[in-house]
Amino acid sequence: MRMTDQRRVIARVLSQAEDHPDVEEVYRRSTAIDPHISIATVYRTVRLFEEAGILERHDFRDGRSRYEQVSERHHDHLINIETGEVIEFRNEEIEKLQVEIARKLGFKLIDHRLELYGVPVDRETKKS
Ligand SMILES: [Zn+2]
Repeated sequence: MRMTDQRRVIARVLSQAEDHPDVEEVYRRSTAIDPHISIATVYRTVRLFEEAGILERHDFRDGRSRYEQVSERHHDHLINIETGEVIEFRNEEIEKLQVEIARKLGFKLIDHRLELYGVPVDRETKKS
């Protein structure tokens, strides 16, 4: 992939993101570094990175595609449907269980996605 300066800025924004930004947010952060970057360039670049397998697209049911860099360490997501907050987690029991389910169905598991959707439990109410 040919790496233009603008693409490099967008790549840096994505690699520094600790959340799961949508294209608008990537655009906002990229233009803070280089104001000449257009939203079209961000869309095109994000799609290229996704096709190249360095970026993962998520749909957390809020109508916006969210992006994060593919990391070596797999994780799953819990989405707070009240605030849209995305919490990353990893659970070894779930990981093992999924491998086992696939195996029982005659498959070798190569990938999976798990999204949990929830509302925070009000601890004060629970106590009383
Ligand atoms: Zn994530």
